[in-house]
Amino acid sequence: MGRIILLDELTANKIAAGEVVERPASVVKELVENSIDAGSSRIEISIVDGGLSMLSVSDNGLGMDAGDARLAFERHATSKISSAADLDAIKSLGFRGEALPSIAAVSRLTLKTRMREKVSGIEVVMEGGKLKSISETGCPVGTIVEVYDLFFNTPARKKHMKSPAAEAGVVSEVINRFAMGYPEISFQLKNNERIILKTTGKGELIEGIAAVHGLAAAREMLAVKVDTAATRVRGFIGKPSLSRAGRTHQTIYINGRFVRNRGITEAVERAYHSMLMVGRHPVFVLNISIEPEEVDVNVHPAKTEVRLYRAQSLEDLITSAVSVALAENCLIPSAQEDRVPVKAPWASITEEVRQEEWKISYLDLARQESGEFQPVSISEQPEISEYVKQPENTDAEDPVNIADEKGQQNSGYPGFPDLRPVAQIDCTYIVAQGEDGMYLIDQHAAHERILYEKYMERPEVFVASEQELFTETIQLTFQESQVLYDNIINFSDLGFVIEHFGGESFLLRGVPAGTSKNGGREIFLDLLDYFSHNRATITGKALREKFLITMACKNAIKANHKLGLPEMESLLGRLAKTRNPYTCPHGRPTMIHFSGYDLEKRFKRVV
Ligand code: ADP
Ligand code: MG
Repeated sequence: MGRIILLDELTANKIAAGEVVERPASVVKELVENSIDAGSSRIEISIVDGGLSMLSVSDNGLGMDAGDARLAFERHATSKISSAADLDAIKSLGFRGEALPSIAAVSRLTLKTRMREKVSGIEVVMEGGKLKSISETGCPVGTIVEVYDLFFNTPARKKHMKSPAAEAGVVSEVINRFAMGYPEISFQLKNNERIILKTTGKGELIEGIAAVHGLAAAREMLAVKVDTAATRVRGFIGKPSLSRAGRTHQTIYINGRFVRNRGITEAVERAYHSMLMVGRHPVFVLNISIEPEEVDVNVHPAKTEVRLYRAQSLEDLITSAVSVALAENCLIPSAQEDRVPVKAPWASITEEVRQEEWKISYLDLARQESGEFQPVSISEQPEISEYVKQPENTDAEDPVNIADEKGQQNSGYPGFPDLRPVAQIDCTYIVAQGEDGMYLIDQHAAHERILYEKYMERPEVFVASEQELFTETIQLTFQESQVLYDNIINFSDLGFVIEHFGGESFLLRGVPAGTSKNGGREIFLDLLDYFSHNRATITGKALREKFLITMACKNAIKANHKLGLPEMESLLGRLAKTRNPYTCPHGRPTMIHFSGYDLEKRFKRVV
C-alpha cells in the first residue's frame, strides 16, 4: 500500500491558512485587498481585542451575487485571473483565490454582500471552514466580512499571538500603509470602538501621510514626481532633519501593492548620500506605477516582495528624482558657499544640519563628560595634509586629557595590539602602526564602544535627578503609542517624563538628565520606533541597553570629523581598555588588520 494520500479540502485550507493567515493583521490585509479590488471608495475596519475576538472589514464596492458569495470560499476560486497567462500581467491585489477559504478555515466568519442592482443581499456563515448557512438578507451595497474567534480551532497558532495591544498595533500599521497607498479611498480604523485613523479619500497623498505620521512630519516632507512613458512615481520624501534610526518609516508601493524592495530603498538613500549621519535613514512614501508586465508579483506568500524585470532603470530614475527634490528644496544661502566647498548643491546644508544637531542635541552631554571629545567646529574643512599635522597644532576646541589617559595605560585588553596612530583617512578612519603591520580603525565605531562601556558602568548618569521640565506635544503612530502604554514605567525609569494627552498624543515633560530637550526627544522617538517594529519583547533591561547604545552612538565622534594625533592616540588607548574592543555595540568591527605578511603578499615580496 502506498503511503501518500490526498488531503481533504478542509485540511488543505488549514494548511494554506498557515501561510496566508499569520495573525489578525494578515487577515485584515487580505480582506482590505479584496475591498480595494472590488473598486471600493470607502473601507471601514474595526477590531476588538487586537482582532482576536472580532475583526470586520466593510466596503462599498461591487459586491457579489449569491453564486459568487458561495464560490468565494472554495479554494482557488477567483474572479481576478482565468488562466496562467494572466499571471504575467496582474492588475489586482489578489489573484490566488486563497484568502477567504484560508480565513474561514480558522475562524467563525460571516460575509454579507449586495450588488448595486440587487434589492437584497446574501449572507454566508462559515465555521472552521464549513458552510453553516447561506441566506438572503438586507444589507447595504458592498461587502461586510466579520471574523470572530480567529484561530479558535488552531490553538498552537493562537498561543503565538502577542498582547491585544501589540496585535492592534500591527493591524494599524497595515491600515496606515493602505491609507498612504490609496489616498483616493477613505479609510477608517476603529480599535475597541474608538476611531484611530480616518482619511477623507480626497486623493491627496500628503493628507494620508499627515493622518499616519502627524502634521509635523508631513510639513517636513518634499514632493517627488516622475513621469515617463511607462513609469509614474508620486511620493514624498522626508527632509534630512526627519531621518530615523530604522527603515520602518519607508513605504514603497508598486502598482498599489505595498512591497519591501531593497533596490528601491537603496536608490532613494543614494540620493541622500552624505546628507545623513551614519546610521540614519530617510523617511519616505513612494507610489510607483509601472506596466504590470514589468513586475512579477507571484514570488512571495504574503505578496510583499516582487520581482522587477527592469530594476536598474527604475532605480536610476528614482535616485535622480529624489536628488532633484532634495536639491530644489535645500537651496543654500550663498554666504555658506565660500565657507564650504560644495560638490553637490545641498552639501553645505548637510554640514549645517550636522552642526545644528551637534549643537542642539548633544553638546550638553559632551560638556558634562569632561573626558570626552568636544565637537570641533565643522565649518573647518578637513585637510588632506592631516597626517603631517603636529600635535601642537591641535585645535584648542578639542581638548583631550592625554595626561589622564597615559596615567592609566596599564590595564589593557589582553592581547590588544600596541597601536601608534600615524594618519587619518577621509576624516573617518585612523591608520595605525601596530606590532605587526597596519591597522585601520573606524573612529566612530571605536568611540561608540568606549562610550557604551562607560555608560554601562555608570547608567545612573542619565537618570533624572534634577531635570529641566518643559512641555512638548508628541504625536505618535498608533503602534508606537501601544508600545508606550505597555512600557510607560520602563520609559519613566529611564528618566523620561511622559503624560498621556489623548489618543496618540503625549506630552513629553522631561528627558533623562544629561540629554538636552531635543536630543532626549529624538532618542525617545528612536526607541519607540525600534521597539514598535522589533518583535522582541521589551524588558526594562533591553530598553535601558538600547538607550545606552543609542546614547553612545549619538555622542560618539562621527565620520567626517578631523582628529589630531593626540586625540587619535587617546581614542586608541581607551579602546584598548574596553572589555570588547573589536566590535561596536551594534556588532560591527571597530578595526581591520593588515599584517606585515598580508602587506608583503600584496606587494608580491613573498609568494
Ligand atoms: P482572490 O482575492 O485571490 O481572488 P479571495 O479568496 O481573497 O481570492 O477572494 C475570492 C473572490 O471573492 C475574489 O476573487 C472576489 O471575486 C470575491 N470577493 C472577495 N472579497 C470581495 C469583496 N469585498 N467584494 C467583492 N468581491 C469579493
Ligand atoms: Mg483576495
